[in-house]
Amino acid sequence: MSDRSSEEELLEFLYACPVGLIECDAAGEIGMINPHAMQHLLPLAGASGASNLFSALQQHAPELRSVVSAFTAPIGRICDGHRIFVDLGVGRRTSAPKVLTCTIVKLGPDRLMATLTDVSQQIVQEQRLRQADTWFATLLDGVHDYATLEITPDGKIASANACFTRQTGFNHLEVTGQDLAKVLRTEETGGDLRLEEQFEIAGSDGWHLQEGWQQRAGGEPYWCQRLVVARSTGDGTMPTGFSVVLRDVPRREEAGADLQRLLTRDPLTGSANRRHFSQSMEQEQTRWREFRQSLSLIVLDLDHFKVVNDTHGHPIGDLLLCSVATACAGLLPPRGIFARLGGEEFGVILPRYDREQALDLAEEMRKAIAALVVQSPGGIVKATASFGCATLDEAEGSIDDLLALADTRLYAAKRDGRNRVHQVEGRAA
Ligand code: GH3
Ligand code: MG
Ligand code: MG
Repeated sequence: MSDRSSEEELLEFLYACPVGLIECDAAGEIGMINPHAMQHLLPLAGASGASNLFSALQQHAPELRSVVSAFTAPIGRICDGHRIFVDLGVGRRTSAPKVLTCTIVKLGPDRLMATLTDVSQQIVQEQRLRQADTWFATLLDGVHDYATLEITPDGKIASANACFTRQTGFNHLEVTGQDLAKVLRTEETGGDLRLEEQFEIAGSDGWHLQEGWQQRAGGEPYWCQRLVVARSTGDGTMPTGFSVVLRDVPRREEAGADLQRLLTRDPLTGSANRRHFSQSMEQEQTRWREFRQSLSLIVLDLDHFKVVNDTHGHPIGDLLLCSVATACAGLLPPRGIFARLGGEEFGVILPRYDREQALDLAEEMRKAIAALVVQSPGGIVKATASFGCATLDEAEGSIDDLLALADTRLYAAKRDGRNRVHQVEGRAA
């Protein structure tokens, strides 16, 4: 093969490659860029032009420059799938943010290769999956409140649970074999979408949730949340059937708030749940990046909580968890979020708080928890907790690193004797 034809082949590859490819020097000056990368970079670069990778991404990923300069190895992967959130404002077709991922590899002392990939759709799907996940988890928590039906691919009821009878007045055994749309009379009373349209969306997206008026057997209308989930064998073919979940929600106005609470709150303590915590953290990370606002995190874990359960029983343990959540939530600043991360571990997101402020608030929370008194038949129950704090600056913008740092400090506080806030070195006395 001649040099010329291999060069042509390379150009052809670069042109057709569905991923943005950029070759630049250590200072970001671009030597080679393929059309795909140009397509992503030009709208972001604005007046600065797309001749330098770091300048072009300055507004949306200012951290890239320091990430690259901090990488000291002679060659290797500098970052992998680094997410860049792009909000181009005017002219956006959807409200979903555009998200690019950037991977940079160091090929030599003054030679970098970067890839840019548009993952916006993936992110939307991830968000939908997260929501679905939460919904299903909540379903399992209170399964008696939900009427569930198994539906064949042609829309007939294969089975329904007893709750279906309680909710709708139709005998769940007698409706087997009937058309679901006829039983529910959705043409007359459905929500925004007819049942068959909902099935169609569930068939392509995996699930669909909506709310609307529905009728009970006696004709009485009620406000209903209706979830349709497509079942499949997992090989990407047509659904092998559907599951439908119906939930009677008291009033239309309450339904939205109710669903919102289900999606964002921990059912025991009423604190934010882990998913809401993660989503809020991502939003705050964007603010941190765009506006350079500080962001702090506190994590706390109750001390020797197993002993409380063992001595006084699980219900008293639950009561104590609720008291801790109420006491800490009462100390939150306006934009703070108090979340239950699992078991007896909590996290506090503190936008605009610096390290000193976070340490001070953690100390206040520690005192508030130590002052709690819960009455139990076996006597008085008290609690203490250990705390770790960290800032997003310290974690260089990485949420994973922020959580890991706060966790490490929390466990240092445990090791140092519990009932304390781990003090970071260099703190002013
Ligand atoms: P330490 O963190 O100080 O090392 O000790 P610990 O006893 O708190 O340790 P560990 O994290 O191992 O135990 C946590 C216990 O919390 C275990 C579990 O029984 C209890 N727990 C987790 N979730 C709940 C809950 O929802 N309710 C109640 N009552 N207890 C819970
Ligand atoms: Mg514990
Ligand atoms: Mg724990």
